[in-house]
Amino acid sequence: MSDEKNERVLHTRIPESLDKELKDKASSLGMSVSNLVRNILNNAIDLVEDVISDSGRVARTARANRQPGEGFAPGPPLIIGWQQLVLQRNAVCDGCNEILPRGADAAVAVTELPSPRLILCIPCMEAQTHEP
Ligand SMILES: [Zn+2]
Repeated sequence: MSDEKNERVLHTRIPESLDKELKDKASSLGMSVSNLVRNILNNAIDLVEDVISDSGRVARTARANRQPGEGFAPGPPLIIGWQQLVLQRNAVCDGCNEILPRGADAAVAVTELPSPRLILCIPCMEAQTHEP
């Protein structure tokens, strides 16, 4: 680790059970708890970045592959549900390209991870949720 200058010490509170788990894991791997935690954090950050860039790609692909009149096909695990709302500003339905004026009812996708905001008109949203 001597090639990494400017190392910082990270203090964080963890539950006793996690502390024990880390110590057990570290001793079974023959490494120090501090090395184990550093490795876990490094891997976890890579993992989070991969997941976020993947989900962004899925959403962009779903938009790019859409043909006019075909309707919107969301990526499978991305959308948890649709939240109905009253639009505060004009929008365009991501399903049928209908213009949705300010004050209209619309539905916005609630996604598992940060992703481009998808807006549907109510008929498109109902078509999404009622299809098997
Ligand atoms: Zn629509």
